[in-house]
Amino acid sequence: MSASLRKIGVILSVLIALPLIFAVAYELNSLNENERVIVEVYGEQLESILYSVNQYGDDAARVWVQRAVEAHQNNDTAQMSQLLNEQQAIKYVVLQAGDDLNVYTRTGWDNDWSNPLVDAYPSEYKKLITYRKAGYQKILPIPLADTSSEGLLFLPQTSPEPDEPEVYGLLVVDPQVFVSQVLAPRIQSATQEKFMVAIQDSQETEVLYQTEAFAEILPQRTNEIWLMPGYEMGIWLNGTTIDSLVKQRSTNNLLLIVGLEMLLLIGVLVVFRSIRKEMDLAQAKSDFVSNVSHEIRTPLALISMFAETLQMGRVRTEKKKQEYYRIISQESQRLSGMVNKILNFSKMEAGKREYQFEPKGMNEWVEGVLETYRFHLQQKGFSLDTDLAEDLPTVNMDREAATESLINLLDNAIKYSEEDKRLLLTTGRQNGRVFVELKDHGMGIPKEAQAAVFDKFYRVGSAEVHNTKGTGLGLSLVQHIMNAHGGNVELRQSAPGKGSTFRLNFVPADV
Ligand code: ADP
Repeated sequence: MSASLRKIGVILSVLIALPLIFAVAYELNSLNENERVIVEVYGEQLESILYSVNQYGDDAARVWVQRAVEAHQNNDTAQMSQLLNEQQAIKYVVLQAGDDLNVYTRTGWDNDWSNPLVDAYPSEYKKLITYRKAGYQKILPIPLADTSSEGLLFLPQTSPEPDEPEVYGLLVVDPQVFVSQVLAPRIQSATQEKFMVAIQDSQETEVLYQTEAFAEILPQRTNEIWLMPGYEMGIWLNGTTIDSLVKQRSTNNLLLIVGLEMLLLIGVLVVFRSIRKEMDLAQAKSDFVSNVSHEIRTPLALISMFAETLQMGRVRTEKKKQEYYRIISQESQRLSGMVNKILNFSKMEAGKREYQFEPKGMNEWVEGVLETYRFHLQQKGFSLDTDLAEDLPTVNMDREAATESLINLLDNAIKYSEEDKRLLLTTGRQNGRVFVELKDHGMGIPKEAQAAVFDKFYRVGSAEVHNTKGTGLGLSLVQHIMNAHGGNVELRQSAPGKGSTFRLNFVPADV
């Protein structure tokens, strides 16, 4: 990796790492604060639900008291029994004015209650009078001997006229019915399935009400029922606790941050990869320029040297002359081959190369190419075996371009085989394709470089490859050509020191 690439890598890593560290640190830091705020907010919400339920019970009792006082003052028994029939929670009402003590029950008159109210609860009524003077009609709960009932002491809203006696009142309520008929509907509308509420006595022996079966967990808030001090209401968040809610929120936040960072990371990786690709390409381009200049310089120097020698008439023998002519012609062919390759490549890059596809016999074509190439192979000391499959279907090919591809493979096999100079050329069909395959026993290609050999300008970075002439365009050209044929080029197998096998796949003409 070049120094500048490493620098870019470091900058990009810092770019992702820093916000991640800050975000996580901030999130962890604010966790406690969040927890406190959420506990507070939820706590207040729970508290306000309990308050509203209590307030509702209180309001209901106040209406009953109002109605009872009115019925009593109007001496209207029908009104009184209507109240008692409507409100099953009221067991009976006791009202005392002077010596006149009346007990109203659902079944009618009942004078069993013998204690004058004001004598039984003197201090309580005193308190109520004080409240009334302050403009507030209070309803005061008191315990009764019968523990299955709750007593509610009250006074009329207005003080009696000077010549009239005070009216003392007692409402005896059935807690069970009070909870189920008065409080429960209110609880249901206030909680809306988000919360669970249970009402039980303070000794936790009797559950009067619960919104639904709940696990044995401590309620998050409890509150005494104002009108029934022996009972309390507990409230939970449904299905969770505030703590787990806070934790879940924090985990969600953290996950979100990590998720965002992952996205960022992927983005940075993509950017990094494309930068690296661009830099590799820039490097490959500059290598290409120096390779090409080097490759051009050698044949040019040879051509000009031999041409000058001939021109000066210094060559005496015809044999020598012929040899010099051959060298000049060979080197100029090399030059024009290289220039053609570059021109072809730029044509292809610009998408301007045109192909003429015709059905061709695979084996005939291969043999035709070998016929013109075999001499060159022999000169370089190579032996080439062929193993051509019979009955191959014809393939669609642009003969010139296909020949260029095969020659590129042959050229490479020659260039990158120094000791073992055996080549094997095979044809056959596989997976609906007709192929020609060239196996050499040369230097091979390291695994990590195999994917890149088809990239333009790419050359393996080893010293051996460096010493061989090349532009890095050959295989890229082959790939272009084969893709245009609807086929492809494959590096079937290659290992350093063990040679390589390249295959060209063509599409059969009759498909
Ligand atoms: P060039 O041969 O001009 O460098 P190519 O595109 O033809 O460019 O090949 C790209 C690289 O692939 C070569 O530089 C070489 O490192 C490697 N290569 C190609 N063919 C062979 C082969 N038969 N044996 C070993 N290496 C090969």
